[in-house]
Amino acid sequence: MDFEYNEEQTILKDTLRKFMDKEIIPLANEYEAERTQITKKIIKKLEPFGYVGATVPEEFGGFDLDTVSYCIMVEELGRAWGGLRTMMTVSNLVTTIIYQFGTEEQKKRLLPPLISLDYMAAFALTEPNAGSDAGSVETTAVRDGDDYILNGTKTLITNGSIADVVCVFASVDRSKKAKGITAFLVEKEKSKYSTSKILKMGMHSSVFSEVVFEDCRVPASSILGEEGKGLKVALNGLNVGRCIVAFAVIGLAQASLDAAVRYAKERTQFGKPIGQFQLIQEKIVDMAMELDAARLLANRAAFMIDKGVNCIKEASFAKLYATEAALRIADKAIQVHGGYGYCQEYLVERYYRDARHLTMAEGSSEIQRLIIGREILGLSAII
Ligand SMILES: Cc1cc2nc3c(=O)[nH]c(=O)nc-3n(C[C@H](O)[C@H](O)[C@H](O)COP(=O)(O)OP(=O)(O)OC[C@H]3O[C@@H](n4cnc5c(N)ncnc54)[C@H](O)[C@@H]3O)c2cc1C
Repeated sequence: MDFEYNEEQTILKDTLRKFMDKEIIPLANEYEAERTQITKKIIKKLEPFGYVGATVPEEFGGFDLDTVSYCIMVEELGRAWGGLRTMMTVSNLVTTIIYQFGTEEQKKRLLPPLISLDYMAAFALTEPNAGSDAGSVETTAVRDGDDYILNGTKTLITNGSIADVVCVFASVDRSKKAKGITAFLVEKEKSKYSTSKILKMGMHSSVFSEVVFEDCRVPASSILGEEGKGLKVALNGLNVGRCIVAFAVIGLAQASLDAAVRYAKERTQFGKPIGQFQLIQEKIVDMAMELDAARLLANRAAFMIDKGVNCIKEASFAKLYATEAALRIADKAIQVHGGYGYCQEYLVERYYRDARHLTMAEGSSEIQRLIIGREILGLSAII
């Protein structure tokens, strides 16, 4: 069993860590404190690293990286700036599914600007009445000549208002339930829809929107994959998605641990650094141990994906454990900081807020437990 990254992966991690420390973390602190929306100029800084299209083959303009390498990239960006990380991983998700399901024309036209970060993408599945139960999508797509007319509301959509292309899941026949769901690539330049901002607990600089389609006309050629096979498109790559979420919170948990260790050495009370008190050491030790366990689980799942091994249970273990552990780690980091941990001036306050949503997104903790239960028992508790 090999627990080491290979040489390229080690160089990638070191390079990214230095780049994030110098170029991204100072911006993150400023933008999050001011609640300023991340700009395209900041996004473009990431272009050389392949944050979008990382695993897409070079012949399609991608970077041809393995999953483990992409997860390294996600961790380092997650450590630096949760808001920027979420915007990039969503755009990458849509780019990857265009590569997997798109027509030649869709790939030729959309992959280059997405990979170069000139375009951003959004993934619009969730609706006011359709969350964990993705098959209950109510947005409709009605055929009209060479077009479809979309009507419905998507909510909790990362990148919603800035996306140049939105992957929208809509039903062409609601009587067919999940089998009517179809994926559409709706382009901002070509189709009319409206967006509004949703205020959230953390990641204040990232874009988060409601997206409303009212008689929105899209050409039939914008279908991604096959009509009625939208859920296959949406749920494809779930194991990769779960690994990505796991590494995103591992980055945040690492940042929380680093901050707690620094503070425990600097802060003195009763004439000693607080890190010398056993109860503070206990917290630091538990944080480090949980972080290590999360990283091991997540790396195992990523390695299995690269080997083409079925890893539904392992990817869910990684997502479930890492997201819940990260909250415990971020919470302890605040405790180590005492009252200052509750103040915006100290980053641990932000890390906790930024990590909080990840036990919900990409399949909630409850859903992960049901998936794992189904894998172990062979009996499904998901209705
Ligand atoms: C910051 C953020 C970014 C997001 N970005 C996107 C995005 O870009 N695109 C997108 O489409 N969506 C996005 N989402 C939405 C996210 O995918 C949903 O929040 C998630 O799918 C859960 O759906 P819901 O919020 O409607 O919760 P619900 O499904 O209503 O669940 C509510 C609670 O009930 C539990 N529950 C539901 N069903 C069961 C069951 N069968 N058994 C046991 N418990 C159950 C859930 O675990 C949860 O605790 C984002 C959400 C957040 C917070």
